[in-house]
Amino acid sequence: MNHLKIDKIEVFPIRAPRKEAARAGNFSNPVTASEFGVVRILADDGCEGLGEISITSPRIGFSLCHAARSLLAPRLIGLDPLALPQVLRVIDSTLMGELSAPYLRAAFEMALLDLAGRALGVPVYQLLGGKARECVPLAWGIYQKSPHEMADDATVGLATGFQAIKLKVGRRLADDVEAVRAVAQAIGKDVPLRLDANMSWRSVPQAAAAIRALAAEGTISWIEQPLSRLNLDGMRLLRQNSTIPIMADESLQTLQDAYEVARAQAADVFNVYVCEAGGLTAAAQIFAFASALDIPCIIGSQAELGIGTAAAAHLGVAVSDLPYPCETFGPLRYENDVVAPGPRIERGMLYPPEGPGLGVQLDWDTLRRWRVEE
Ligand SMILES: [Mg+2]
Repeated sequence: MNHLKIDKIEVFPIRAPRKEAARAGNFSNPVTASEFGVVRILADDGCEGLGEISITSPRIGFSLCHAARSLLAPRLIGLDPLALPQVLRVIDSTLMGELSAPYLRAAFEMALLDLAGRALGVPVYQLLGGKARECVPLAWGIYQKSPHEMADDATVGLATGFQAIKLKVGRRLADDVEAVRAVAQAIGKDVPLRLDANMSWRSVPQAAAAIRALAAEGTISWIEQPLSRLNLDGMRLLRQNSTIPIMADESLQTLQDAYEVARAQAADVFNVYVCEAGGLTAAAQIFAFASALDIPCIIGSQAELGIGTAAAAHLGVAVSDLPYPCETFGPLRYENDVVAPGPRIERGMLYPPEGPGLGVQLDWDTLRRWRVEE
């Protein structure tokens, strides 16, 4: 096989309007649109690969496009896109110390795996070792709104086939309690609920009191990120003083974070994101690390569009252990998508597209319509 060369890299900042404003944690600003970036890597034989720069909160995905275009792209031109470790080494050394590095790394790695799959004629899941399962079971996520709206949303979610329900908590405790009560009454008190506090509680006693009050209203699968990102000691204390499992999300982005969270005994479950880990292979490494410690993982999401969600689908079918439904239903949050067709989501299951690479093609009309200036 002749060596391919990376010939051209395009980066498009986009703004994807959401169907419903996202309200979570105790953040004051609802998110009405996600501002992401699309990376397109072209090889000298015309083969292409697509990646997505996704970060919803803070909404800086599109502002990373400038760095992607001016800092990373020039360093990668001429490299062999199929020599992934070599390209990743250049990306890592270029972005060393940059806090947003995993998001950029993930987008480029996604595009390179897509390109490699297309060049070799195999789906990305095959590059990750092949299928452990046919599809990825999904949980449905519900933003903060009135208790009856959240209850209706949960009822529809379960009827649609989603395998679990996740609620965003972290408002005034009385509001959270009312919401959990309404949802539990609507779907049955024994249906387990995931509660995501998005770092809202300010101390261990405050979090412990909230968890106790919420657990009295329904069956709780786990509490996600009750305390601030760096408060691993606090999360360990909550685990020691409660029977409700604790999930790490904001505390855990990279493999190094996974090590720190595990060492601090701060979580029972890991929420792993392709975009935060620094790519599909990095996320797979977190799964492998956690598996060695018997810590279960799910794949989480920044409500990615079709490219990022296809990537999550390929990872989700390829990891060995996936004991719980994942949260990678991002395309359902938007009226449209930058790929057509997008990855299939049906009866609460996400399927990896079967074509070579990620298996998705750009929808240029939507891309042009959503494109924004940096
Ligand atoms: Mg979360």
